Amino acid sequence: MATVKPIIIAIDGFSGCGKSTLAKALAASLNYRHIDTGAMYRAVTLYFLENGVDIENPSDIEEALKNINIGFKFNPATNQTDTYLNGDDREIAIRTLQVANFVSPVSTISAVRSFLVKQQQKMNEHRALVMDGRDIGTVVFPDAELKIFMVANDDIRVQRRLDEMQLKGQLGNFDDVAANLRNRDLIDSTRSDSPLKKADDAIEIDNSHLTRDEQFNLVYNLAMEKIDQGDEFTAPV
Ligand code: C5P
Repeated sequence: MATVKPIIIAIDGFSGCGKSTLAKALAASLNYRHIDTGAMYRAVTLYFLENGVDIENPSDIEEALKNINIGFKFNPATNQTDTYLNGDDREIAIRTLQVANFVSPVSTISAVRSFLVKQQQKMNEHRALVMDGRDIGTVVFPDAELKIFMVANDDIRVQRRLDEMQLKGQLGNFDDVAANLRNRDLIDSTRSDSPLKKADDAIEIDNSHLTRDEQFNLVYNLAMEKIDQGDEFTAPV
């Protein structure tokens, strides 16, 4: 049956800009798959913390990566997709400030990045994918049909992260969360391997003063334009 060719939508940007919220809503409305790559870096970080992996020791890291299996599964109770680490649902554990404070140093390690990027690139079998992170438009899918780069005012980002933590039953303090976001932005955008930066062909959106609906409509329309420009193709049966 001839149909419209699905696309890849890459959403990158600074911490706490609401990338995952937007990506999730877009994927739901397009009937695409959503992958939150930040959750994958957080799952590796959780494993490293729980198993005392020395991030200065390359052979320790290599050995640890052999034992890490990350998955996603829809949780009907919360209507969210939960992150699994070695078969266990660790969605709550990967969102703590302890993990947030360690995730950026872990994400500078090239062995960790190539381990996760390989898995992310395999998720594009049928395209029809919305992936959010820091390097999706630049490294993971440089050929993505639509690339969005999100930015937002610092205080607004902190408040959004606090709201998200509260929804997951965690208490956060404004100054601690602000320090964490600042620190992560700095490490993420200055690391040598795949630093956070806007791809040349990405569309920058400052969502500081956009409602969720306004932002969604803006990006949904951009996605529909790209999908309409695509070739017809015959879906594999
Ligand atoms: O998106 P989230 O804030 O959960 O990401 C947590 C951390 O994971 C980021 O601060 C960054 O260090 C790392 N990350 C990354 N590359 C990605 C996604 C996340 O380095 N594609």
